[in-house]
Amino acid sequence: MRVEYRPISTEIIQAKSRKQMVYCALCSHPRQQWVSSPHLSTRHHLQIIILAVFLGWSLFSIIGEVAYFLYPFCWMIVDFSRKIIFRKDMICPECGFDAVHYVRDVRKARGLVKKHLDENPQSLVFRKKTLR
Ligand SMILES: [Zn+2]
Repeated sequence: MRVEYRPISTEIIQAKSRKQMVYCALCSHPRQQWVSSPHLSTRHHLQIIILAVFLGWSLFSIIGEVAYFLYPFCWMIVDFSRKIIFRKDMICPECGFDAVHYVRDVRKARGLVKKHLDENPQSLVFRKKTLR
């Protein structure tokens, strides 16, 4: 029996990896973003409940009745790590533009972009500006 292997296209791999293709609002550099929203969905809460039950079951002999209250700690850790990953993905690696900073304070966002371009003269945006 002969099995034929077909090459998997990159579109299928990207769809399975749950990464989004986004473009920078400032320099239009394409990049992949891992997390689309910093907020937790119902599926995440179910996963946190399962994690808390498993941790409580496995650690009950060590920490005792504190194991009943592991859900808020698991929730806090997962929520905090998801927000950190979201913020890390928002920053453009080419120009240093951060949309979250731009919404909150435009001057600070401009300063961060200028600082990033001064520190990284090899970035694509800087090369485009010097070629003009
Ligand atoms: Zn950019």
